[in-house]
Amino acid sequence: MGEYIYAFSAYLKDKFGTRVQRLSLNAGFTCPNRDGKIGKNGCIYCNDEGFSHFAGKKPPPLKQQIRQSMDYAKKRYKAKKFIAYFQNATNTYAPLEKLRKTYDVIKEFPDIVGLYISTRPDCVDKKILNLIASYRRDYDVWIEYGLQSSHDRTLHFINRGHIFHDFVKAAEMTAEKDIKVGAHVIIGLPGETKEDILKTAEKVARLPVSGIKFHMMHVLKKTKIEEYYRKGKIPLLSFKEYVNNLCDFLEIISPVCVVFRLVSDAREDFLVAPKWINKKSEVIKAVNDEFKERKTKQGSKYPSASGVVYISMKGQQ
Ligand code: SF4
Repeated sequence: MGEYIYAFSAYLKDKFGTRVQRLSLNAGFTCPNRDGKIGKNGCIYCNDEGFSHFAGKKPPPLKQQIRQSMDYAKKRYKAKKFIAYFQNATNTYAPLEKLRKTYDVIKEFPDIVGLYISTRPDCVDKKILNLIASYRRDYDVWIEYGLQSSHDRTLHFINRGHIFHDFVKAAEMTAEKDIKVGAHVIIGLPGETKEDILKTAEKVARLPVSGIKFHMMHVLKKTKIEEYYRKGKIPLLSFKEYVNNLCDFLEIISPVCVVFRLVSDAREDFLVAPKWINKKSEVIKAVNDEFKERKTKQGSKYPSASGVVYISMKGQQ
């Protein structure tokens, strides 16, 4: 992503000295916000099928997914090393032994160098974190938590089923175990102003967050937000507004916070709006151009905006 952003690819190159490809995996876990433990309807924007290669209720066995994705990445990107990215649903939401068995699959693939687990902030505890920390000796280990927003009224509206404090608690517990923390943040959430978005950036900058993944609020078919959108109740950010907000956000966070992604994408057959999110390279270019014009970059306002320096790359070599 260039000289203005600390991109995930640059982080991986620094760490492993070669191209490392992320393999998106669906371990078949469910989500407490769908199975009734917390709720049944899920987050208002979520359609699990809309974002993954192996989406669906009955994904192929994990080993098959890994082999298939590895072969593709070897041919397409000449990748030599890989990260197992447990992406779909809530990847810490199962009994401990099931989690261990699931994560252990990576041990059969010597070219896997990283374990990345995506989950909800209210779905970890000490035992789960100890288990995940046990992989640190051999792998680059991250937990990516769905934060979305630091505003509880927004979290309530989008039906997350947790509050901001859950994220703070999970991030702190995770960092204490020397596991790197990633935050998934949505820009353009219903009812949020620029000030709200920047407040979230300031809060992220104060927490032990080592990586961030941005998601543009988009509308997928068969979601609650689709209903609102079709009734004209949900305004979406324009390309320009998104880039502007993104640059403002990036200026506030730490310059060493890894940026996993600048914009979400979605399967064309599921995507209602806006269609521009799938033009990833245009977003990346626009962000770089904007920084060039502003004469700023990621971290330009850090720590002054956040008030605290938190260089959170514990465990990075
Ligand atoms: S976005 Fe994540 S937490 Fe929300 S319903 Fe979907 S899988 Fe569950």
